[in-house]
Amino acid sequence: MHANEKLVVDTLLTRADHVLTCDPSFQVFSPGAVAVHQGTIAAVGPCRDVEQRYEAKETWTLHGHMLLPGLVNTHVHGAMSLFRGVGDDLPLDRWLRERIFPAESRFVGPEFVRLGTLLSCVEMILGGTTTFCDGYFFEESAADAAEHIGMRAVLGQGVLSCPTPDVPDPAQAADRAAAFLESFSRRPSRLVPSLFCHATYTCTPETLRWAKALCRDHGLLFQIHVSETLWETQEIQSRYGRSPVRHLEKLGILDERTLCVHAVWVNEDDLRTLAQTRAAVSHNLESNLKLASGIASLPAMRQAGITVGLGTDGCASNNDLDLFSEMSLAAKIHKAVCGDPTVCSAREVLLMATRQGACALGLGGVTGSLEVGKRADLVAVDINQAHLTPLYDPVSHLVYAARSSDVRHVWVDGVPIVRDGTVQTLDVSHVLGEARRTAQSIRTVLFPP
Ligand SMILES: [Zn+2]
Repeated sequence: MHANEKLVVDTLLTRADHVLTCDPSFQVFSPGAVAVHQGTIAAVGPCRDVEQRYEAKETWTLHGHMLLPGLVNTHVHGAMSLFRGVGDDLPLDRWLRERIFPAESRFVGPEFVRLGTLLSCVEMILGGTTTFCDGYFFEESAADAAEHIGMRAVLGQGVLSCPTPDVPDPAQAADRAAAFLESFSRRPSRLVPSLFCHATYTCTPETLRWAKALCRDHGLLFQIHVSETLWETQEIQSRYGRSPVRHLEKLGILDERTLCVHAVWVNEDDLRTLAQTRAAVSHNLESNLKLASGIASLPAMRQAGITVGLGTDGCASNNDLDLFSEMSLAAKIHKAVCGDPTVCSAREVLLMATRQGACALGLGGVTGSLEVGKRADLVAVDINQAHLTPLYDPVSHLVYAARSSDVRHVWVDGVPIVRDGTVQTLDVSHVLGEARRTAQSIRTVLFPP
C-alpha cells in the first residue's frame, strides 16, 4: 500500500459536530468521524485523520449532529408495551392483582409477545436505544421481534416456581429453560439468551440454584428483580432471616454474570456484598417512582464500586421506554435526595446509559462505546434545534436538554436501522395498527362496558 493510498471500508460517518466515544478516557472529537467495516468500528477520531486514512462505499455527512454509542436499556419487559397505561395510580399489589395478572393470564402467548416486543423495539430504536435486556415469557417470540427489527438484545426467559403462561407445570421449568438457551444457536450473534428469575419471593432456593447453574454452564447472564419494595425485603427476611441480596449471596447466585434489577431497599451490607461479588445493578428510576417503590441510592451504589446500568422496566409501570428521560431524571433526582448538586454528573449518567450498561449485561467488549474493534452501534442526534442551542458542552445537552425525538439516525452492527427518523427494517404503521387491534380485546376484558 502506498503512503497516500486509503483503506476502503463499508461506511464512513463523518463531519459530525461532536463524536462522544464514551471510551475509558471519555474522548470527544469535535468534529469527528467513525469508519465502519463489516459491522465493526475500524476507526474513530478527528474528522481530518479518519478522512485521510479511509474512503468508503457509503459516506454519511453528519453536519449538525452529534454521534454517540447506541444506548443500552438494561431492563425491559418488551411485551408489556401492550399494557401501556392499563393501570395507573394504583398500589403495586392492586396494580398486579386487578390489572396486570388478569390481562397476562388471558392474553399472553407467542403472538402477543412478538407484537408487544416489536412495538417496544420500534419505540426504543427511534429513541436511540440499540441494545436492550428483556425478561418475559415465550421469550423466543421476543427474540423474533429483535431479530426482525435488527436490534441487539439479551433475551431472558422468565422463570418462576409457580405456573406461568408458557410453563403451566413448574416441574418442567428447567427443561423449558435449557431448550430455550439451546435454541439460540440458530440466531444472529447479536441476540444472546439469558434466564430471568422473577424474584426471591416467587422463586424457591432450588429454582434459583438450577437457573444460575444453567446460566453458568452456558456463560450467560442471570437476571432477577431484587429488593424492589420494602414488602419484599421484609418477606424474605421473615422467610430466610436475611435480606434478598444476602439470600442470593448465600445461595451462590451473585457474580459478575448476575444482574440485580432495582436494588431499591438495600443496606450497607448489601452494597458491600454486591460490590464484592461484582454483581451488577439495573437502576429503574421512573418505574420505582411510579409504583412508589422508593428511590434506589445510586450515589451509594456508585461509591461502593458497583456497575450500574439504566433501565426503563416494562411500559406498564413507566409508561415509556425512553432512556433520554431516564438519564435526565437520574442526573437530577439524586442531587435533590442527597442535597448535593455534584452527585450523578451528566458524564456519569451518560456512561450508565452506554458503556456501564453494556458491562452490566456482559457486553462490555461488544458495544457501549465507540472504540476500534467494537460493533458499530451508533446514534446520530440532531443538534440543530432551539432547545439544543447554543451548545457549550455536548454531554450536558445530551443529559439535560436533548429528547429521544432528537434522534435522527441509528445503526446496529453498522446497519442503518433508523434513517432520517424512519425505521428501515419494517413498516411501523403496520405494527401500530396491530397493537391497536390487540388493545381492543384487552380493553373489553379489563374495562367491560
Ligand atoms: Zn421488571
